[in-house]
Amino acid sequence: MNKILIIEDEAPIREMLAFVLEQNGYEAIEAKSFDEAQSLLLEPYPVLILLDWMLPGASGIQIAKQLKQNDLTKNIPIIMLTARGEEEDKIKGLEVGADDYMTKPFSPKELMARIKAVLRRVAPTAIEEPVEANGLVLDPVSHRVTVHNEKIDLGPTEFKLLHFFMTHPDRVYSREQLLDHVWGTNVYVEDRTVDVQIRRLRKAMGDVNNMIQTVRGSGYRFSKAV
Ligand code: CA
Repeated sequence: MNKILIIEDEAPIREMLAFVLEQNGYEAIEAKSFDEAQSLLLEPYPVLILLDWMLPGASGIQIAKQLKQNDLTKNIPIIMLTARGEEEDKIKGLEVGADDYMTKPFSPKELMARIKAVLRRVAPTAIEEPVEANGLVLDPVSHRVTVHNEKIDLGPTEFKLLHFFMTHPDRVYSREQLLDHVWGTNVYVEDRTVDVQIRRLRKAMGDVNNMIQTVRGSGYRFSKAV
C-alpha cells in the first residue's frame, strides 16, 4: 500500500486528512512536526507529502526546501497546505519546489483530485489505476497482468519493472536508471540483473514482448509502437 506522509500540527486537520487518505486506499503516516516527520521518513518512502505551511519550529517553506535538497527525499512530491489563499504564498511555495498548493478548507474530493493530479504528473506508478498497451493490461491493485485477457505470472521485480515501463512509455532508460527507479537507490545490484529480469519479463509476456525494446548502447524502452 502506498504511504502518504502528513506533516500538520493541528490534530483535527491531521486526523481528517488521515481518514480521507485511508478511505482512498493509502496508508497515512502522521507527524505533528518536522522532527517527528524525519524519524518517519524511512524506506519505503512515502509517495507524497502533505505539508502544512505554518508549523511550530520551522515553517513549511523551510521544510519543503530541505526535503527538496536531500537526495533521498527530493523526488517525493509535496502539496503545501495553507490557511491563507494569497498568490504570493503560492509562488513562494512553488519556488522552493512544492508541487502544488491548497488553501484550507478543502473538501475530501478536492484533496484526492489534487493528489491524483500531482502523482499522475510526477509518480505515475503510485496511482493505482490499471494500465493498458496493445492487449497487455496491468492492474496494480490486484497485481494481475493479462495478455489478451489471459493471466501471466510475474515475479515481484518483473511486475514492478513492467509497471514502471508501462507508466513511462517511449523513453529510453539506462540500466542504472532502471535500477534506481525499480530496485531503489539504496540497493546494490549489478547492471546485469536488469538484463536478467528483462529477459524473464519478455519470456512471460509472449507475443506482446516486442513492446520492450533494446536500444543498443543506451538501455531499454517500452513502446506501443512496434
Ligand atoms: Ca499549522
